[in-house]
Amino acid sequence: MFEKSSWIRLPRNVVVGHGVLDEVVPVVADLHLDGTPLLITSPTPREVAADPIVADFRDSGVEPAMVTVDTASFDAVERVIDAVEAEEADYLIGVGGGKAIDIAKMASHHCQIGFVSVPTAASHDGIVSNRGSVPDGDTRHSVAAEPPLAVVADTAILAEAPWRLTTAGCADIISNYTAVMDWRLAHRLKNVEYSGFAGALSEMTAEILVENADSVRPGLEEASWIVTKALVSSGVAMSIADSSRPASGAEHLFSHQLDRLAPGAALHGHQVGVGSIMTAYLHGGEKGFWLDIRNALESIDAPTTADELGVDDETVIESLTTCHEIRDRYTILGDGMDEGAAREVAKETGVIG
Ligand SMILES: [Zn+2]
Repeated sequence: MFEKSSWIRLPRNVVVGHGVLDEVVPVVADLHLDGTPLLITSPTPREVAADPIVADFRDSGVEPAMVTVDTASFDAVERVIDAVEAEEADYLIGVGGGKAIDIAKMASHHCQIGFVSVPTAASHDGIVSNRGSVPDGDTRHSVAAEPPLAVVADTAILAEAPWRLTTAGCADIISNYTAVMDWRLAHRLKNVEYSGFAGALSEMTAEILVENADSVRPGLEEASWIVTKALVSSGVAMSIADSSRPASGAEHLFSHQLDRLAPGAALHGHQVGVGSIMTAYLHGGEKGFWLDIRNALESIDAPTTADELGVDDETVIESLTTCHEIRDRYTILGDGMDEGAAREVAKETGVIG
């Protein structure tokens, strides 16, 4: 008897385009969200996006509340949760780069109210996905959360974000290749549940991004469009799988470990990109596959070496040999890499000198 069932939770409205910031109020109306919105933002996005949204709400007769956060932390999540109670907010709008949206997502999960994602940088796939993570001391907590009810991504604003944020978003997408390889491996060896739909969508997303790499250039608004669409598509793959597996394998473990060993050294997407070069090498298979990943990263100006990440060689080795311990997620790293082997892969791929 067939007794399987699953929920696929997706955003209902995804609005991407030039000047669509104006459409936050209509998008909220379309979702039938009533009452008081609470905007969560940080200083720079506040000026370029949150303040104009507040003005639009006022014009429509709604008085929103706003919390400005400086860092992604549990304290910030607590502050937002307190504000939800104090302001009697009915739904949340996360306006910013990764952190404001991650905080909105986690607070929305805790308070059981919906949230809308308004990214001002296309720097990682958290802007759409149903996963949230904030650093807590020297660890990072990743929690299952709600996907946003809607995503409003204004490419005019995204194009103004620092270029490295966009290349980080691209690198996060390129790493889908190795994430899916790890997922299939875990399926074959550990019987981890695998979704062919989610796997194929995730790989195709990386493929389309790489095919359009020529348009991923600073100053081109089209670049923001391509990256945002890819991040949305990657988020959909995670929703279909009800797991971050389609977009997160050993290269993400490597990056999370770097976050602990060298906090703040590089952007998430850049770290996973470099991790992906090395785990592609470990997967072997098609000759030169790791080189394709490295070339793809290079072509969009993303880092490909420890040096470019701003971390030293030994930190890369330590991260490679210990990152399998971070979480119970089976990948090509298995039960851990031997130090000599780690040095070999990092050298062979040119990540360390
Ligand atoms: Zn990522």
